[in-house]
Amino acid sequence: MFGAIIGDIIGSTYEWHNVKTEDFELFPQGSRFTDDTVLSVAVAEKILNSHLSAVNSRKSYALWYKQYYRRYPNAGFGQMFEQWAESDILRIQRSYGNGAAMRVTAIGLAYEDLDEVLAEVKDSCYYTHHHTEAIKGAQAVATAVYLAKKQCDKAEIKKKLEKKYHYQFVPLDDIRENYVFDSRTSYSVPPAIEAFFESDSYEDAIRKAISIGGDSDTIACMTGGVAQAYYREIPKKIRLRAMSILDSGLKKVTGEFENKYLK
Ligand SMILES: [Mg+2]
Repeated sequence: MFGAIIGDIIGSTYEWHNVKTEDFELFPQGSRFTDDTVLSVAVAEKILNSHLSAVNSRKSYALWYKQYYRRYPNAGFGQMFEQWAESDILRIQRSYGNGAAMRVTAIGLAYEDLDEVLAEVKDSCYYTHHHTEAIKGAQAVATAVYLAKKQCDKAEIKKKLEKKYHYQFVPLDDIRENYVFDSRTSYSVPPAIEAFFESDSYEDAIRKAISIGGDSDTIACMTGGVAQAYYREIPKKIRLRAMSILDSGLKKVTGEFENKYLK
């Protein structure tokens, strides 16, 4: 869970100033948490409170998103999401942006059965990303987190994702030069997971994710969620620095979630 958040924080400045190298400062001035963190924590809180909810799962996700948007309106939300969150009625939006895939780490970590993970992801997309491409990307990320948590080996995870989602995982060295900012799901998800495949540690995965440029906070957030599930260890120095950037509310929910599901 913190793995995804830390990826978002590290990517937050590089989203605007892309670097095409793995050699960069992890937390330059201006590093902050963004919408990726806020909504990842909203998902975690939905899961932690599932047993209390009187509304159905789809609605519950949507209401938590709206609540977290109201708490952190300046976290860098996209315009389309903002309009959805500010609307007085609960409407269905058909976005194919990577916003659904960036927030699902908690789902991959919390559930013990892959079918449950996939159904839960679908619920998490229902109101904001009612679009096959977005749902597919979110399910692919959650599946990667789930399999990484189960300590499947990387070749096996890759094979499963290729087969089920028909993604192609191209070496980062082959895409880096021409990779640009585009928040389409199918453009962001495969390289984010590829960064994990090519890595040998949590930090290495994040450095590789940022090194292609593009939508860096979101890409590193997805990579970070999978990488933490797999490597378990996040260097203490990195964890502490990122924690100092989070506020107490986000820290509390994330801590509770990790205590329950990452022990
Ligand atoms: Mg962001």
